[in-house]
Amino acid sequence: MVHERPLLVLYIMHDRFGRFIKGHTSWLKGTKGVFKHTEESRKKISKNNARYWKGKHVIITEETKEKLSKALKKNGHKPPILVGEKNHRWTEDNVQYIALHQWLRFNFGKANICENPACIDTNPKRYEWALIKDKKYERKRENFMMLCKKCHNLYDDVYKKIWKSRLSKKTI
Ligand SMILES: [Zn+2]
Repeated sequence: MVHERPLLVLYIMHDRFGRFIKGHTSWLKGTKGVFKHTEESRKKISKNNARYWKGKHVIITEETKEKLSKALKKNGHKPPILVGEKNHRWTEDNVQYIALHQWLRFNFGKANICENPACIDTNPKRYEWALIKDKKYERKRENFMMLCKKCHNLYDDVYKKIWKSRLSKKTI
């Protein structure tokens, strides 16, 4: 018997956004003996049922991968774009950036005011979380402030100019 080397082991459990959660405990935990599957009901839960795979370790082998891609091509799906170093959306920095902004929004809500005391926009429509210059991208509320779009752009522009002048001074 040929043993296939598993390519990937996934733990299937979804959150409310349909994303996988690693190591999440099953909702069935603590209900042992309450929910019992009879032989018949077991048969009813086919392998095509998402419920069957929920909470199970799934081993994706080369064979499964091939089957999947064949099935997807049959249905007119294009093969997924390979995620590599060249894919700028998934560089480590970007992932960190996205995760941090999600963390900010989740913990402190959407930016809804401009914290610039001399706000240049009289009727701002969009607010954003801005990283305070010289601070690091860390999960600290004090490293960020809420700014309207215009102030944010200005803030970044001013900073870029200061940075440029600093650099030019260094070269002289
Ligand atoms: Zn503003």
